[in-house]
Amino acid sequence: MKALLSKIRRVGRVAEPAPRRPAEAPMRPELAGSAQVRCVDAGSCNGCEIEIGQAFGPLYDADRYGVRLVASPRHADVLAVTGPVTRNMATALRRTYNATPEPRLVVAVGDCAIDCGEFAGGPGVHGPVDSVVPVDLAVPGCPPTPDAIVAALRRVTGR
Ligand code: SF4
Repeated sequence: MKALLSKIRRVGRVAEPAPRRPAEAPMRPELAGSAQVRCVDAGSCNGCEIEIGQAFGPLYDADRYGVRLVASPRHADVLAVTGPVTRNMATALRRTYNATPEPRLVVAVGDCAIDCGEFAGGPGVHGPVDSVVPVDLAVPGCPPTPDAIVAALRRVTGR
């Protein structure tokens, strides 16, 4: 325990230096400063989830911009949706959206969420995220970098 504590003290903060504040105003004034995010995997390969995990890890530390992950859409302001929406997930995504209180935002994370990406035309694919719920913000990339994910979430909080 002592060794661990002294290592923590020695290493200090490892987070990347914070970039400048976003130039744009927060997308919804009600969410300025703080937004709770529920992730929804609508059918991804999990590559995007790995990058979202990094965005909230100690290096990119999205929490310092007022963004927090929550476990229920009822506690969320923002849905971060990954993957093409599979047939099995279309109803679940719609219900999740309806369970999220207003004002709510949907962020489509990754090429698959935007236009089905690698999985376009697949037999189990229903369509992109905006074929099921309205999308407010898109983060392109396969997968998008943690930087890009953090930058999109900062547009929500304006921090
Ligand atoms: S965008 Fe790329 S990493 Fe993300 S779910 Fe699609 S194939 Fe996987």
